[in-house]
Amino acid sequence: MTILITAKDYKSTNLPTLKKQYADLIEKGTIPTLHVILVGENPASVIYTRNKKKFIENLGGKCEIINLPETISEKELLENINNISSSPDIHGCFVQMPLPQHLSHLDVGQLIPPSKDVDGFHAENLYHVMTGNFDETTLLPCTPKGVIKLLKEYKVELEGKDVVIIGRSMIVGKPLSLLFTAENSTVTICHSKTKDLIEKTKAANIIVAAIGKANFLNADYLNEKGDQVIVDVGINKDSEGKLCGDVDTESMKNKCHAITPVPGGVGPMTIYCLAENLLVAANNLRNK
Ligand code: NAD
Repeated sequence: MTILITAKDYKSTNLPTLKKQYADLIEKGTIPTLHVILVGENPASVIYTRNKKKFIENLGGKCEIINLPETISEKELLENINNISSSPDIHGCFVQMPLPQHLSHLDVGQLIPPSKDVDGFHAENLYHVMTGNFDETTLLPCTPKGVIKLLKEYKVELEGKDVVIIGRSMIVGKPLSLLFTAENSTVTICHSKTKDLIEKTKAANIIVAAIGKANFLNADYLNEKGDQVIVDVGINKDSEGKLCGDVDTESMKNKCHAITPVPGGVGPMTIYCLAENLLVAANNLRNK
């Protein structure tokens, strides 16, 4: 029987502690405060930012969504980012991606000061990921951090295990490969030009799909042993417009040891880790 690795289970154990940490900081006079810059009205981005705001407010933090028009100039966007960056009352900030075409060349992760970079995309924060020299005060990229937390919660052994990550993006695949390496896993990063992908996934103990293609990974990619763990990072719409991951979960049932569902797996963990990073940023700034 395949185990479902869910964020709900993770939260039922860990959310009370996070809530208490927020309450303790608020009692000391610091309300963890996040500003999210949202350019335009991309429907998925509107939903993502709303969910993040709701989660942080439920913890007692503050979250403001700064809605900027689709047509905003680069200069005006940078002014907005600078205002947030220099405000002592704002502990965390990020720009919701994707940006409109005329701004898509901007590497916004580098524009937020590393101390407020709750997405964990700034080079200074990524350097800690590169070196493996990080602790609970480091702002780690949210989705990769969420994947590792979820697997550890379910006591999935990482040390010495062969991990295949499909996807080499800067927000998921690459940083996640480094977090697995820090856990002493042996990692193979695959991508659109990888040859013999099926051979590689069959040989893995853990497979992570971060591709962005609905139901891409099916049971053909698994070995016969039924002992593999599958992590589905994808957030896609299927042909009927229904939310789905990169993994064809139905075909995997009873053919792998464990799997993360979409929705209810990595997605909510990303939001959880963002809230955790906001707490870290607020604490770090307070202790400075
Ligand atoms: P991306 O488009 O930047 O990268 C996709 C990767 O998939 C690329 O490295 C590409 O080489 C690889 N790829 C594409 N086709 C392939 C193929 N046929 N075989 C092997 N590899 C292939 O995407 P991303 O930003 O990393 O996001 C990936 C998915 O994860 C998307 O569905 C995105 O919505 C989702 N996502 C989810 C969360 C979350 O919180 N759950 C966070 C970030 C991204």
